[in-house]
Amino acid sequence: MKRISLLGATGSIGQQTLDVIKAHPEQFQLVSMSFGSNLTLGRKAIIEFSPRLVAVNDFDAYTQLKSEFPDVSFAFGEEGLIEAAVLPEADILVNAVMGSVGLLPTLKAIECQKTIAIANKETLVTAGHLVTAHAKTYNVELLPVDSEHSAIFQCLQGENPKSLERLIVTASGGSFRDRKREDLENVTVEEALNHPNWSMGAKITIDSATMMNKGLEVIEAHWLFDLPYEKIDVLLHKESIIHSMAEFHDRSVIAQLGTPDMRVPIQYALSYPERLPMPDTKQLNLWEAGKLHFEKADFERYRCLQFAYDSGKIGGTMPTVLNAANEEAVAAFLKGKIKFLQIEDLIERALSKHCVITDPNLHIIQEVDKETREFVQSFYS
Ligand code: NDP
Ligand code: MG
Repeated sequence: MKRISLLGATGSIGQQTLDVIKAHPEQFQLVSMSFGSNLTLGRKAIIEFSPRLVAVNDFDAYTQLKSEFPDVSFAFGEEGLIEAAVLPEADILVNAVMGSVGLLPTLKAIECQKTIAIANKETLVTAGHLVTAHAKTYNVELLPVDSEHSAIFQCLQGENPKSLERLIVTASGGSFRDRKREDLENVTVEEALNHPNWSMGAKITIDSATMMNKGLEVIEAHWLFDLPYEKIDVLLHKESIIHSMAEFHDRSVIAQLGTPDMRVPIQYALSYPERLPMPDTKQLNLWEAGKLHFEKADFERYRCLQFAYDSGKIGGTMPTVLNAANEEAVAAFLKGKIKFLQIEDLIERALSKHCVITDPNLHIIQEVDKETREFVQSFYS
């Protein structure tokens, strides 16, 4: 039996993680969880899974649930998030919050030697060097949940890491993959949220449309698999059937395939190194797809991809700026404060203004994150 702490239980990954836990009651137990403000889904999860500790980010939701469930312990805000992440009886932390708010709980959980199943890519982008060094120091496994990274992780099982030559990260292209750049000027939030292959949280769906999601994933892959950026390629593959590939130095390429369903990589991270059945997921029948398509990634069409490679290569605080600027700009777009293409413009401004600090510690990362957010906000508020 593995005991699980789940951060972001009310989100898209969080809800699918609960599905996986529910499907395997002899294998998994939820012992703590966190959520932001979604009282309905938060309450439902408490009733269904009886976690011992629940962290809530919204004060009203926190006080209300506290009086409703006297037998459950509640914690509040960012400190609550950490409390949920380090609960002594938990074995695994599933980090499925959105944004760099997931960094501190991840570091603290590593210090408590929890296995980390990481969906929260912003944490690895903003401070990948700290997270991976910490995991090494405390001898803790970082297990990918993101489908591309889970695919690569699966391709690497039983292989000598030294024979790994290249990673090929596939990309669906997002909601606007069939539109030209000049047709994106006046796209609406609703159009951007309409992803062709995956149903996900709002922020990552916008990130897919700008292709920043793939940029963040390249940085995530750099940290998880310890490869230089020159050896990480992005390949457009609109069917999202090949979830990514690993090339070895004998020129063998191994791919992981499946119908797009996030429960598969979530469950693999939880059951690793075993596999468990996934009865109600659609089998992959390639004849139904007929053809699979591949295209080279266009860095002029998708400028965020270029920003991400550049920031990753520069390193230091540059990826922190990339991530914070993106989080703020996407939030502003979702609130209708800026246009779609302004997301790229604001990120570019933040990056070009920043003087990079090499090998930043946690304090510097947090400062740069905050300053970048304020800088971006100054353009529209
Ligand atoms: P959602 O927006 O659906 O969910 C985010 C979760 O985090 C919710 O439970 C939300 O609570 C909570 N949350 C948000 N902000 C805070 C905060 N400041 N403090 C505490 N909790 C907070 O996101 P997704 O599930 O789509 O994505 C989560 C992470 O997983 C992201 O990093 C994303 O990039 C990554 N990911 C997602 C995939 C997907 O298919 N969705 C695929 C691969 C990676 P509430 O809603 O109650 O306010
Ligand atoms: Mg992904």
